[in-house]
Amino acid sequence: MSLGHKSRRLSSNEALPASTQTVIIGGGVIGLSIAYNLCLRGYTDIVIIEAEYLAFGASGRNGGGVRQQWGTELNTRLMQESVELCNRFAHELGVNVWFRQGGYLFLAREEKQVARLEHTVELQKRCGLPTRMMRLSEAKELVPQLETRELLAACYNPTDGILFPWPFLWGYAEKAVSLGAKLFTQTPVTNIERGAGDFLVHTPRGTVQCNRIINAAGAWSPRIAAMLGVEIPTYPVRHEICSSEPLKPFLTPMV
Ligand SMILES: Cc1cc2nc3c(=O)[nH]c(=O)nc-3n(C[C@H](O)[C@H](O)[C@H](O)COP(=O)(O)OP(=O)(O)OC[C@H]3O[C@@H](n4cnc5c(N)ncnc54)[C@H](O)[C@@H]3O)c2cc1C
Repeated sequence: MSLGHKSRRLSSNEALPASTQTVIIGGGVIGLSIAYNLCLRGYTDIVIIEAEYLAFGASGRNGGGVRQQWGTELNTRLMQESVELCNRFAHELGVNVWFRQGGYLFLAREEKQVARLEHTVELQKRCGLPTRMMRLSEAKELVPQLETRELLAACYNPTDGILFPWPFLWGYAEKAVSLGAKLFTQTPVTNIERGAGDFLVHTPRGTVQCNRIINAAGAWSPRIAAMLGVEIPTYPVRHEICSSEPLKPFLTPMV
């Protein structure tokens, strides 16, 4: 299965329009979800510009984990909303994301990790999550493959889950395009010029004049910002994932 086919079908073969209200740079989950949500609110004069294909960036190459076990209230509540979004996504966008709430099991090998887990459990309980510290014997029942000899503690939330990330891109892209947004893949933004109250976004397929730019270029966002002389103090960090041959699911929670 490849996203190339979907990208080609959704992507416009026409020339870039001379002008639009909003240009979104980056066709990952952030750019496409912003496009969809703007369209829902009536802002359909949107051009999404993606340098490669829809799953080229992190949105096409991740673990699909959706966890609410975080160490700050803001992140925890954001992810509680994400779980709700994942549960209604198929119905709202007409595509199955294979969301499965098998839980997340965190393990601690050192006392300071145990203390951190205990602290986050209290925080998450205050947010209404059923997260709890778990005896290692119980963790072993949940994941029989677990080697518990070097572990001190475990912490578990049964409502965390995993999904297949690609349909999120298909769902958002299809709905945004059907509502009027235009998507251009294989179209790198090479430069941006600031005019009097507007911008000129340059690509090898032409230039678009727009009133607003949304920088959704993920790890590449500092490069886009630099085109306008803005420094974003973030930098990409390599994060590895290993694909195996297809296997039957053998873990209930994400460990
Ligand atoms: C190995 C790995 C595992 C992960 N696991 C998880 C997980 O389990 N759970 C989770 O929630 N998150 C996970 N993440 C993080 C998650 O994938 C990202 O936070 C998310 O996909 C970021 O989406 P994005 O749209 O911001 O960026 P991206 O998906 O990277 O999209 C940015 C897009 O911008 C485009 N672009 C760049 N430069 C230009 C340009 N000049 N012109 C036009 N387009 C341009 C790129 O081609 C790219 O398609 C993981 C990430 C990695 C790498």
